[in-house]
Amino acid sequence: MSGKILTLQMIYKEGAETLEHAGIPDAKLDAWYLLEYVTGISRASYFGDPKREVPKEQAESYREVILRRAGHIPLQHITGEQEFMGYTFLVNPDVLIPRQDTETLTEEALKFTKPGMKVLDMCTGSGCILISLLKSCPGLKGTGCDISEKALKMARENGRRLQVEASWIQSDLFEQISERFDLIVSNPPYIRTGVIEELQEEVRLHDPWIALDGKKDGLYFYRRIIAESTGYIRDNGAMMFEIGHDQAEDVVRLMEEAGYTQIRVKKDLAGLDRVVTGRYNKR
Ligand code: GLN
Repeated sequence: MSGKILTLQMIYKEGAETLEHAGIPDAKLDAWYLLEYVTGISRASYFGDPKREVPKEQAESYREVILRRAGHIPLQHITGEQEFMGYTFLVNPDVLIPRQDTETLTEEALKFTKPGMKVLDMCTGSGCILISLLKSCPGLKGTGCDISEKALKMARENGRRLQVEASWIQSDLFEQISERFDLIVSNPPYIRTGVIEELQEEVRLHDPWIALDGKKDGLYFYRRIIAESTGYIRDNGAMMFEIGHDQAEDVVRLMEEAGYTQIRVKKDLAGLDRVVTGRYNKR
């Protein structure tokens, strides 16, 4: 780079073009988020004076993050965060980046939760579901479990930052769980192994494989969680899953076979089947 003056507008334009050439979906938007991340400027401030000079080091940092994004590193792994249910969650490659689809599950769970109830978030990852439930329903008692100690580290950190009390337990599904819960929520790995290769690079290479892989038919974790859940759910308790858009029929059947009743399928904002809920009554 020569002694040329660089403006916000110039570096943004170059950043957006670089991302477009790299085939990044939403290139302009991501170039914008990264500009905000590096310079700390708001949209209003940018448009107030787009020809403002950018210090050399900032322009250089911006080019660096743009190149990382052009290499299909997820935006959230560069900024280190993702918004979910209105809260900011820290993320890293040890946890699945929270998805908007999962807000459908969280909202469904919030229709059921009441202060004093105990909720278990099975395969908690970043902790985004459990922490959002605890924020929105004060008095709820929460446990989050995950097989990954690294994921739990991130979940604990998110819990601390967002000031919620929760128990975080490292456990292979129910192995280390010894209580019963009013509600069990779970967004388990549910992608068929053979389909993972077809996903975009950001997901396939950067989200944790173990958070995606639902084994051969994608249903492995539903099968195990549903079969084992009946020893961990209170009478009249609820079970709520996020599912892949083509898994409703199978998950409904598995829940029926395990004795769940009042089973319902809810759609996400795109109109796809996304959540299955059911109640459990001991007979
Ligand atoms: N919804 C995620 C995706 O589309 C998958 C998450 C999961 O397997 N639980 O990549």
